[in-house]
Amino acid sequence: MRFALFENNKIEASKGAKGFCPSCGSELIARCGEFKIKHWAHKGNRNCDPWWENETDWHRSWKNNFPVDWQEYSFTDNLTNEKHIADVHTIHGIVIEFQHSHINPQERISREKFYKNMVWVVDGTRLKRDYTRFLKGQKDILRTNQHGRYIVQFPDECFPSNWLGSLVPVIFDFRGIESISEPNDLRNYLFCLLPNKDKLDSTLVIMSRESFINSAINGELLKRQEKQQVQKTQPLQQNITIKRREPTHYYDPRKGRFVKRKRF
Ligand SMILES: [Zn+2]
Repeated sequence: MRFALFENNKIEASKGAKGFCPSCGSELIARCGEFKIKHWAHKGNRNCDPWWENETDWHRSWKNNFPVDWQEYSFTDNLTNEKHIADVHTIHGIVIEFQHSHINPQERISREKFYKNMVWVVDGTRLKRDYTRFLKGQKDILRTNQHGRYIVQFPDECFPSNWLGSLVPVIFDFRGIESISEPNDLRNYLFCLLPNKDKLDSTLVIMSRESFINSAINGELLKRQEKQQVQKTQPLQQNITIKRREPTHYYDPRKGRFVKRKRF
């Protein structure tokens, strides 16, 4: 963790500093080695929050876009007494979780249900194939009549499957902490997949980092989702023509429901 509590202040780890866990209250050890970023650790290194992951520079640089008071916000469920520490909790009541390592869908869902009003920001640079897949799949992304909103016809061909079916928006960051000088590089944008409520297509919002950060700070984040139905118009890249494609699902009368069509 970046912060420990000491006499009601959030303090960063430094050699010999004393601090306590904001969630379980136990005394923490300041780790200030040469290789890992400075952080606070529980004794025996087991974090009291099983959802906590070791922080990377990517985590820290994202969290630093927000006020210190919003970072590492401790939550307790009043009924079950379950406790967790959210990466960022905005003053508007939204949790932002920055996820670098793999997460299985079961844990993802428990976290979504615990925080409810949340968005994920996923490190899309951890696996090289994630961006390669996106580059291949983005030819099927369609523009809509609303600025910044797109339709993804085959979300599984653009994004890692363990993030599909999320109950909350999932934002993919394919740039990470690198800087990219080419202004047209798609990695300069964030790609936010909105929850897909049993529809075949998914809605994607493409935005700049600044616009995401500003909307989280000014309270606009998650409000824009509730706009009216969008219409597909053109492909994301103007020079690509869309071929009519088969629908992703078909109705199977024996099963009495829509089933996914195998493409290959
Ligand atoms: Zn603790």
